[in-house]
Amino acid sequence: MSMATAQAQSSPSAFDVAAVRAQFPALHQQVNNQPLIYLDNAATTQKPQVVIDAITRYYSFDNANVHRGAHCLSSRATEAFEESRKVVADFIGSPNHDQIIWVRGVTEAINLVASSWGRSSLRAGDRVLVSTLEHHSDIVPWQLICAECKAEVVPIEVSDDGIIDMDAYTTLLDGRVKMVAINQVSNALGTINPVKEIAKLAREAGALTLVDGAQAVAHWPIDVTELGCDFYAFSGHKLFGPTGIGALWGRRELLENMPPFHGGGEMIQRVSFEGTTFNDLPFKFEAGTPHIAGVIGLAAAVRWLQGIDRKAATDHEAQLLARCDELAQSVPGLQRLGPDCNRISVFSFLLEGTHPEDLGTLLDQQGIAIRTGHHCAQPLMSRFDVPGTARASFSLYNTHEEVDALFSGLEKIQTLFT
Ligand code: PLP
Repeated sequence: MSMATAQAQSSPSAFDVAAVRAQFPALHQQVNNQPLIYLDNAATTQKPQVVIDAITRYYSFDNANVHRGAHCLSSRATEAFEESRKVVADFIGSPNHDQIIWVRGVTEAINLVASSWGRSSLRAGDRVLVSTLEHHSDIVPWQLICAECKAEVVPIEVSDDGIIDMDAYTTLLDGRVKMVAINQVSNALGTINPVKEIAKLAREAGALTLVDGAQAVAHWPIDVTELGCDFYAFSGHKLFGPTGIGALWGRRELLENMPPFHGGGEMIQRVSFEGTTFNDLPFKFEAGTPHIAGVIGLAAAVRWLQGIDRKAATDHEAQLLARCDELAQSVPGLQRLGPDCNRISVFSFLLEGTHPEDLGTLLDQQGIAIRTGHHCAQPLMSRFDVPGTARASFSLYNTHEEVDALFSGLEKIQTLFT
């Protein structure tokens, strides 16, 4: 029996972690002569064998360009590619599959909306609200387009616990606000934001909402219709899928009226020097040869996740976080950032007397992978007056024993500095 399996079997959770872990080859290895404990899931998740197999199968047997070939391989590739769009549409509750636009990830999705919708809709004096919790990818694209349109990016403040100040938000919602761009879960703190309420208030004030679902999709089922947002974006690699692929969902009438983002093949109906006409959704936004293997791998990841008991997985993750918080209380000099409740997956902290970077390196020597730094959330770090934090982030395949190992690791490090 492998060490990882033994650890998982003794987990107090009802969720069958051992069976899940067995499907992830990367988890069963040693790093620095220690069994790997992978706690950097908010950065990217490991991939189950079915995803690796789907990508290998595509490249081994079906590799061809999509949509334009008159041969068997191209038909197979196109069929798998378009079937994947339906899988993803179903996964996030999209009424139609042509409202799913393939993008490289959340970063490209937000750049697409900022560039296409923003450039055609924002006027001088308009405002885009983003929370102080946002990842740089939900700040910088808005800054770029607002600078061009003489509009303004305005932050929504958060409390000392890292919770969006809803009173401050409501006060900001005046006629100048055209877009509210917000993450569903903060990657730096794990705060779960009330995006349904935020979208409702935005709608009542005449503004659109873009929800960055990067840190949410792997943790519970999403229904864009129920959320009431106008755009929703997620990245495949945080969802057990490949890097370089993600999806943007948008309300049909918005997408239909938005100008193209990139120009090139596939996004046109007819090209002439007198004038070019554009393709229908979703192809209008998908210029050039897409990441076909990525799309197929993403659909495999989604199907895999749909085969998991999501409720049991979420409960398991909540137990991991609860254990983490409990153990943290007995570590002298440990300061946790973020709210006590309405938080998922993320344990962001500082340890007195040690720099987060050193913590990361010293834990890595013990086989424990965490993230350190500003987590692409520098405005949030400034809000808390810290240069960065150490962040352990959990996925459904982590075990209680791994949480314990993190704290034994921290204890060892503390003895080095005392
Ligand atoms: N938004 C959030 C909340 C994130 O955590 C991340 C990545 O860490 C992103 C956006 C950017 O995602 P990607 O790099 O996959 O485009």
